[in-house]
Amino acid sequence: MANKKINKRDIGKLLNQWSQEFTVSVPSKEHGVAIMSQWDGKDTSFLDWYRNTVVPPKANFLPNMEEMFSFQKDKEGYHLELPPSDEQRQLIFGIRPCDAKALAILDMTFKDAYEDPYYLSKRKKALLVGLGCTNPCASCFCTSLGVSPGESTDVDLMLTDIGDELLVEEVTEKGKQLMAMASGVKAATKTDEAKAKEAKEAAYNKVTRKIDTEGIAEKLLSAFDNQDYWEKVAAKCISCGICTFLCPTCYCFDINDELVKKQGARLRNWDSCAFPIYTKMPMENPREEKWRRVRQKVCHKYEFYPMLFDIIACTGCGRCIRLCPVNWDITQTLEGVPAKAPA
Ligand code: SF4
Ligand code: SF4
Repeated sequence: MANKKINKRDIGKLLNQWSQEFTVSVPSKEHGVAIMSQWDGKDTSFLDWYRNTVVPPKANFLPNMEEMFSFQKDKEGYHLELPPSDEQRQLIFGIRPCDAKALAILDMTFKDAYEDPYYLSKRKKALLVGLGCTNPCASCFCTSLGVSPGESTDVDLMLTDIGDELLVEEVTEKGKQLMAMASGVKAATKTDEAKAKEAKEAAYNKVTRKIDTEGIAEKLLSAFDNQDYWEKVAAKCISCGICTFLCPTCYCFDINDELVKKQGARLRNWDSCAFPIYTKMPMENPREEKWRRVRQKVCHKYEFYPMLFDIIACTGCGRCIRLCPVNWDITQTLEGVPAKAPA
């Protein structure tokens, strides 16, 4: 399929056109924190400053707090009401390839293993417009997880920065329809294609942090009971939960009822296996010691998820490294897994 291109100065116009049909989210800053938020109709400065969001786009599908239903009690009993469904389809503009892959990984839990209606109602209607990285962070290691900074899988359209313009790959039929709505689009030339290829290769080569994932699930299985190792790994962790809240593939949640007199709501909130009080409501936390919780976080991604779904539940986005307040580093943990547990 022939690729297209659009001038960067026409991106605002394009987003406005798409906003007629979609709730469009773009990278923006809220109190200095990069997040995906609704397009304000004018600001395209993210094209200059954006590397990746702090809060991953999973929050568009699995919000940090979500009302599942509200309820009221009267003489006849409880009456439940579902929240109004948002009929508007959402379009996420500028999602990075690692975060698009993370959504495909989350689908395995929320679509394939179990159909979660809250997640799926948003996910099924969403369109993803990817924007390749040109300047990956030092903490990124996506290329070790089979993702590349310019990769065009798991999105509907893929954009690559080729200078004053963006090269546009129409990855899916939905993406093609999106471009049919756009004005100011031209056919990409051979020179544009060559520039995009060069930009992708340059970005790939800038990801210098690497890990060896070969046989990692088996290594972790073998080291599972090596308490000494896990205690060392967990020593500096302060159990703040940031690495799990902001991981694009972590999905633990808690459900609780907020009740005032006879009415209230059932809410689903992000939770974290890093917390000592995790699962405390149904029972005591089976991972009371910190080393067990850190082990759980690592093994869930690199041992249990591969056993269940044949894929590592980490995209190498690097958030857990750059956002950890004590510089805990999952790549060091994985590189240091002992080959065998001591006898
Ligand atoms: S962000 Fe760092 S300190 Fe916080 S729970 Fe994760 S590893 Fe521990
Ligand atoms: S474990 Fe860390 S690097 Fe991997 S996807 Fe989660 S936040 Fe990104």
